[in-house]
Order: sequence, then C-alpha cells, then structure tokens
Amino acid sequence: MSTFTVINPSNEEVVQEIALADIAQTDAIIEKAAKAFQSWRYVNPGDRARIMRKFATIIDAHIEELAQLEVLNAGHTIGNARWEAGNVRDVVNYYSAVPERLFGRQIPVPNGIDITFKEPLGVVGIIVPWNFPMPIAGWGFAPAIAAGNTVVLKPAELTPMTAIRLGELALEAGIPDGVLNIIPGRGSVVGQRFVTHPAVRKLVFTGSTAVGKSIMAGAADQVKRVTLELGGKSANIVFADADIEKAAANAPGGVFDNAGQDCCARSRILVQASAYDKFMGHLETAVKNFRCEDPRLETAEMGPLVSATQFERVKDFMTPDVKIAFQGTAPTGKGYWFPPTVIEHSNLNDRAYREEIFGPVVSVVRFEDEADAIRIANDSEYGLSGSLWTRDVGRAIRVARGVESGNLSVNSNSAVRYWTPFGGYKQSGLGRELGPDSVDSFVETKNVFFDTQS
Ligand code: NAP
Ligand code: MG
Repeated sequence: MSTFTVINPSNEEVVQEIALADIAQTDAIIEKAAKAFQSWRYVNPGDRARIMRKFATIIDAHIEELAQLEVLNAGHTIGNARWEAGNVRDVVNYYSAVPERLFGRQIPVPNGIDITFKEPLGVVGIIVPWNFPMPIAGWGFAPAIAAGNTVVLKPAELTPMTAIRLGELALEAGIPDGVLNIIPGRGSVVGQRFVTHPAVRKLVFTGSTAVGKSIMAGAADQVKRVTLELGGKSANIVFADADIEKAAANAPGGVFDNAGQDCCARSRILVQASAYDKFMGHLETAVKNFRCEDPRLETAEMGPLVSATQFERVKDFMTPDVKIAFQGTAPTGKGYWFPPTVIEHSNLNDRAYREEIFGPVVSVVRFEDEADAIRIANDSEYGLSGSLWTRDVGRAIRVARGVESGNLSVNSNSAVRYWTPFGGYKQSGLGRELGPDSVDSFVETKNVFFDTQS
C-alpha cells in the first residue's frame, strides 16, 4: 500500500504517514456511499436536521484539536486555524436548516396540480485542495448531505489530517456510516476515479484552473454536474479619495493571509496615480510590521508556505527582471518560509503580474481614472474576488458593478461569509458555494403534474 508522509511546513519534521487509497479501495467506498444513499435520503427531515446539529456541536467541542492539527499539517496560524474549524461548525449548523426547508413549488396549471420536488443526486464527489482543508471540505459536504446526498471526499495529499478527523466526528455525531466518507489518496487516482465512476453523480472541485478544466472535460462523458472553484488574481483598487492609511494598513492582510495561498488573495493592488506615493509609504510600514512567524504563536499573522514544492513555485516567479519594491521579514532556517513581498511592474505582461502565484507576493500598479481602474482590474482571465476603496458612494456602486468578479468588498478586504454566495466569474470557476442557494446545486428539480379531471 502506498503512503504519503505528512511534513510540518514550519520545521520540516515528519508528522505522520498516511495510507493512500488505490482504485479498488476507492470503488469499494463509492459503492458503500451509493448504498448509504438509499437510506440517508429517506431519513426524515427533522432527524437529518438534528443529526447535523449534533455534528456541529461535536465539531465545536473539538475546535482546538482540529486547529492544532491544521497548524501542524498546513502551517496555518493558530488564529486562522481556529476560525477555519469554527467555519466548519457554522456551515454544518447553517445547512442543518435545509432538510426541513427543501421546498418545491406549486405552479398554477389548467386541469390539474403541478408540483416541483427537490431530490438529491446520489453520491457527490468532493475534491479538496491543501490551502483551506477544513472550510472547503465543509462548504461541499454540509449542503450535500443536508439535501440527502452521500459524499466521498478526497482531501489534498498534503493536508489530509483534519478531514480524516472530521470524518470520525461525523460518525460520533450519529451521521450513519457511509454518508460522509473521507478517502485520502492521489488526485490522479482517487480524484480521477470520482470523475469516471458512474455512481458519482456530481463533482465539487476546488484547486488549480488547469486541473479544474480537466475535471470539467472528464465530467462531460457522463454529463456529471460540476461545481468548480478555481484560481484568482484579484484586484484591490484604491482611489485617491479613499482613507489611504486604512486601505494601506489593510492591504497586507488581504493578500498575505494564509501566506498568500488563498484563491481570494488580493494579489494585484491598483492605486490611483495621485495617491500612489502616499499609499506606498503606508504600505511599506504595514508590510514590515506584518508578523510572519511560528504559526503556533497567538501573534502570528502569517506562517510558512505549505510545502517545498510550493516554495519552489513561488520562488520561480522571482526572476531577475522582477522589481521588488520592499519585503517584510520571515524566520530563517528550517521550514518553507517566504517573506511578504511587494513588487512593481512597468510591464503588465510579466508572468508574476498575470499568473496566480499562490504565495505572499503582491503586485502594485498605477491607474489614472475610474474607467482605467475597471479596465485593468478586468484584464485577467480570472474573476473571483476583489476590493475597492473610495469615499464616493456613486463610484463604489459603479466600480462594484463594473468589475467582473463574484465577490467584492467596499472599504474592506472582507473574508468569505458562509451565509452569502461565493464563487467566480470567467476562469475562476463555475457555480456558487455557500449562501442560501448553494443547495440547488446538490439537487435535481423534478416536475410532476397531477391530472384532476379523471
Ligand atoms: P491541484 O493539482 O489543482 O490540486 C487540487 C486537488 O485536486 C487536490 O486534492 C489534488 O490531489 C486533486 N487533483 C490533482 N489532479 C487531479 C486529477 N487529475 N483528477 C482529480 N483530482 C486531481 O493544485 P496543486 O497542484 O496542489 O496547486 C497548484 C496551483 O493551483 C497552486 O499553486 C495554486 O495556484 C492553485 N490552487 C488553487 C486553489 C484554489 O483554492 N483555487 C487551491 C489549491 C491550489 P493531490 O493533492 O493528490 O494533488
Ligand atoms: Mg497539482
């Protein structure tokens, strides 16, 4: 049996060996999930809701344990990791309201009654990346099981530990065996089997745009439903009329959080030319004060990159022609430490400007006016998130409507909220997770007409 060695990214020490599933094991678990679907879908709504609330309560009792696991496995700061575990609790609790509210419609028709039903799909395959192992797992599995589906979930090879633990806690909460199945394994083996196995009726994938495209192409063969959350290169647009000090003080958190390994990272800062020097002065102070340190410390704002591979990927963007304006500090020695880095561009075709770096690197560019800001922000194949800073309400509305992106915040770099929709425009993804409507992507709508004339 093949295994994967989990390495602590803060110090490169071996944490644990994880057994990786092969195709035969994956098939057996998919078949178990398909069997569990036949009973889970008929568990009465109140009971399904109650079991999910129990699951949320049990997660809540294990927040600290889950958070510590994520610090060890992924190098997340302890503050972030606690938030992430709490996010799974909240998402499970939020979607526990679904079973009792999975309403259809009654639509007026002549000579009868017309009713729609929302019915679960079957087995849902969820493929999770390593950047937010807990939240991204929960955003998929909570609405899926709430709607009566069963789940097979593949964590990223690098970060399986919290997913495995959440699977155990689900059983403890009374979620029947076979409903939420965690399958550690390789993307090319387990993930690919989700794409080809006919019992898996829907795929939820979060990760790179390249793999997302291959999943979507593979899904076409069986017309499998897909939700994709892919990359980003989001713009943080700062107008001269904004509170420049506040915008600059908040900019590092908007991109360096999770060491920049965030699809929502505001990795392009667009600053109006007349405020550029003032903004850069304040940004330098904020970046130099940004605390990149041992993620176990309560004061840590940023930890290491997740792996040696990710460190090399980020470093490869730092070609000699890249102009570094300034950098923050990071620990030296063992661990995949990369300091917060700010770069300026004279050429917007630079690879570091156009591609998702997924590390603590931010590009800063100037713009002249509102139209210029929108044009530069939209000059990307991505469209996931972004921010804009201005005191002019009309401008805030115009620019928010003008930027092609699924998630924007005005005068903040706001985090994702579980009760509002999240997802991307263009090549940042397909479909929406979270919020009141995400359950619709885990059900089919069945329309039934009852003839009342006979
Ligand atoms: P990735 O290859 O897209 O991995 C994401 C998930 O997909 C992992 O669970 C992976 O499994 C699985 N996977 C890989 N190939 C697969 C396949 N052929 N079929 C089914 N599943 C497959 O991402 P990565 O290589 O870890 O990171 C590369 C870059 O992607 C990053 O530098 C970043 O730019 C971007 N990324 C974006 C996000 C996001 O949130 N949008 C998240 C992660 C990465 P394994 O773990 O076994 O590879
Ligand atoms: Mg990959």
